[in-house]
Amino acid sequence: MKALVLEEPGRLRLSERPQAPSPQQGEALVRVHRVGVCGTDIHAYAGKQPFFEYPRLIGHELGVEVLEVGPDTQGIQMGDHCAVEPYLNCEKCIACRRGKGNCCAQMKVMGVHIDGGLREQFVLPARKLHVSPTLSFDQLALVETLAIGAHAVARAQVERDEWVVVIGAGPIGLGVMQFAKQAGAHVIALDVNAERLQFCREVWNIEHTIVVSDATLEELRALTDGDLPTVVFDATGHPASMKGAFEFVAPGGRLVFVGLFQGEVSFFDPDFHRKEMTLLATRNALPQDFKNILGWMENGEIDTSPWITHRAPLHEVPETFESWTNPRNGVLKAMIELA
Ligand SMILES: [Zn+2]
Ligand SMILES: [Zn+2]
Repeated sequence: MKALVLEEPGRLRLSERPQAPSPQQGEALVRVHRVGVCGTDIHAYAGKQPFFEYPRLIGHELGVEVLEVGPDTQGIQMGDHCAVEPYLNCEKCIACRRGKGNCCAQMKVMGVHIDGGLREQFVLPARKLHVSPTLSFDQLALVETLAIGAHAVARAQVERDEWVVVIGAGPIGLGVMQFAKQAGAHVIALDVNAERLQFCREVWNIEHTIVVSDATLEELRALTDGDLPTVVFDATGHPASMKGAFEFVAPGGRLVFVGLFQGEVSFFDPDFHRKEMTLLATRNALPQDFKNILGWMENGEIDTSPWITHRAPLHEVPETFESWTNPRNGVLKAMIELA
C-alpha cells in the first residue's frame, strides 16, 4: 500500500509499505479517505516541532472507513464512517483514571509520537473511532481540529452573554471563536494581521475585531463598558502575547492558554492576584468533545463549509505541500484525498 513519509524536514516521499495486519482484540482496520493538514504537520515539515523524530507518517485529522474489526469492538462495524480521536492514552495513569485521557502521562499522538494516517490503511484501537452515519469524509476529517477549540471553550465554561476575547485568528483561534459564539458569548477577535481579522468579520461573522497595538487595552475597555472580557483565550502560542493577555482579563476572570510555547512564560504576580484570575491550559480534546461536534455537524449547528480552502490527492502532496506552508497562500485547512 501507499504511504506518504516525512523522511526529514522539507522532504515528503510517496513510498510502498507492507499491507496493514489484521485487527486484534479491541482493534479496527480502517481505510483512510481524508487527512487534514494542521499546524503540527507544518511545524514537523519545517523541522520546528520539538522532540519530533524522522522518518514519520504525519496526519492526525482523519476521515476513515472501517474495513474489518477484531473481537471486543463494541459499537463499531464494518462499513462505518468515522472521525478519529488520534490521542492514544494509556488508560492507567492518574489522568486516564480520572477521565482526562487528553493529558495522559504516556500520551502518544498519532502522526506526532507514532505514525499517523497518511497511508491507505492502518489498524488502531476501535475505542478511538467516532461514527457518523451522515457526515462526509471531509467533515469527519475536520472533527479533530474543531475539537481543540470546543475543548478549550468547555474548559473555560463559557457562559451566555459574557465577553470573550480570542487572541490569534489562525485555525485554532477560529475554532475557539466558533464555539464561544455557539455558547452565546460576545466574541472579540484580536490579531496582528488586519487581513485575518477581515476574514473573521466577513466569513466567521465576528462582530468585533481589534488589530493588536498599544491601544488594545483601551479598546477592550471601550467595547465592554469598562469591564474588560471575563474570558481571554490565547491561541498564538507566542510568549509576548501570552504575557500581555493577563492585562486583558476582567477581575475574577479566566485566561486560557490554548497555544503552546516551548519555553518560559512570565507574568507580574500582583496583577494575577489582584484580579483573582484563573489560569487554564488546554491540551487536545476529550471523547465527549468529539461526540458533541459530530452532533453539531449532523444537526447543522456548526457550518463546516468555510473551513477547507485547499485540497490535493495523495500523489500530488510531495510537490504541493510546500505551498501550503506559505502564509501568503491563505491556507485555512488543506485536505489530502486518499480514496
Ligand atoms: Zn491538528
Ligand atoms: Zn494515561
